[in-house]
Amino acid sequence: MTAPRPQRLLLLGGGHAQLAVLQALAQQRPANVEVVLVTPAPRQVYSGMLPGWLAGHYTEAQCVIALAPLAEAAGVTLRRAAAVGLDAAARTVRLDDGGVLGYDVLSVNTGPVQDPAAWGVPGQTAVPTLRPIEDWLARTTRRLAEVPPRRVVVVGGGAAGFELALAWRHRLEAAAEVSIVTGRSGLLANYPAAVRRLGRQALAARGVRCIEAAAREVSAEAVVTADGQRQAADEVVLAVGTVAPRWLQGSGLALAPDGGLATRATLQSVSHPEVFAAGDVASRLDGPLPKSGVYAVRAGAALAENVLGRLAGRAPQPWAAPVRTLNLLSLGERSAIAAWGPLAVQGRWVWRWKDRIDRGFMARHGTHAKPAAT
Ligand SMILES: Cc1cc2nc3c(=O)[nH]c(=O)nc-3n(C[C@H](O)[C@H](O)[C@H](O)COP(=O)(O)OP(=O)(O)OC[C@H]3O[C@@H](n4cnc5c(N)ncnc54)[C@H](O)[C@@H]3O)c2cc1C
Repeated sequence: MTAPRPQRLLLLGGGHAQLAVLQALAQQRPANVEVVLVTPAPRQVYSGMLPGWLAGHYTEAQCVIALAPLAEAAGVTLRRAAAVGLDAAARTVRLDDGGVLGYDVLSVNTGPVQDPAAWGVPGQTAVPTLRPIEDWLARTTRRLAEVPPRRVVVVGGGAAGFELALAWRHRLEAAAEVSIVTGRSGLLANYPAAVRRLGRQALAARGVRCIEAAAREVSAEAVVTADGQRQAADEVVLAVGTVAPRWLQGSGLALAPDGGLATRATLQSVSHPEVFAAGDVASRLDGPLPKSGVYAVRAGAALAENVLGRLAGRAPQPWAAPVRTLNLLSLGERSAIAAWGPLAVQGRWVWRWKDRIDRGFMARHGTHAKPAAT
């Protein structure tokens, strides 16, 4: 009697939720299952600590999770490549190295991409984007080592833009100018009024100019706002235009109106139950969740349970996403705002709290980060 063909579990992307799948595989490896992790980089950059890195509180090594040791501990083959196409009917994924990998079960956690063209403002295609984060990290490291900018303009008033503006402010000499152009909806538009108020005060107190207007034109040298004002810059940070990856289109997988991989509460594709997805690449149809690192992390346990359950023939369980989450926004220096529902507080103790949470997350995945000396 011949042994049954092993099933293949394909892990696309080593994002925040996938880390929990790797951890679960290290603890209980299902029999007769081959697992492959496809990732363009051998590490996962933890975006929650990036503003702290830019501000000078962490080294780069403290903000990254090495994927190879996690894959090795889980008995997973690591394939350095990026997915560029998917055929859900054939159950195959096309890679940028020309390879094609088949799967029986697929777990997708590749995050979003930043597509300035989709944002639709003229000029900005010449400006480097925040994603892929690896590229931004390398470029910003070079920039800081060569000639640090004197005029920084951040475009985008969401959490990433807000934190990065304040991180640049903290990093640069007092004579440097930092501005943030928030877009029409204003600063921290997805946050309650108390957070927006503290956010505006934090920018004003640190001398960051907050322009609550839409950008009409963006180039590497300047940002022109809707009222015609020109903000000259030698560093433009584009914290807008985050969308679902294009390779999902034409895959045959059902997509949500925002282009994300449409999932149920079980994190399964609504069209293909052998496909699971979590994090920013996924869009739950039963009740859309915010695209955020916090939700991507929180989905990890359910993703692991349901992916491994599928291989073992167990019925998937719905993930009851938290109604509210704790959001922590760093303010450049070692101070932060905590947001919980409509409530908001600010202080140096909040930064220490955030620092403990972030370092705890990193330590669970093998990176032990002590804050850099002040
Ligand atoms: C500067 C900055 C600060 C932020 N701060 C916060 C914060 O404090 N709190 C918060 O909740 N959110 C924050 N965010 C948002 C947060 O980064 C995202 O919501 C979060 O990264 C989404 O997690 P994810 O696991 O879905 O994807 P990611 O973290 O992007 O992980 C995706 C992984 O998949 C890999 N990958 C990408 N494409 C492919 C492909 N084609 N094939 C295979 N692998 C691929 C990537 O290399 C990466 O390792 C911040 C974002 C930025 C840019």
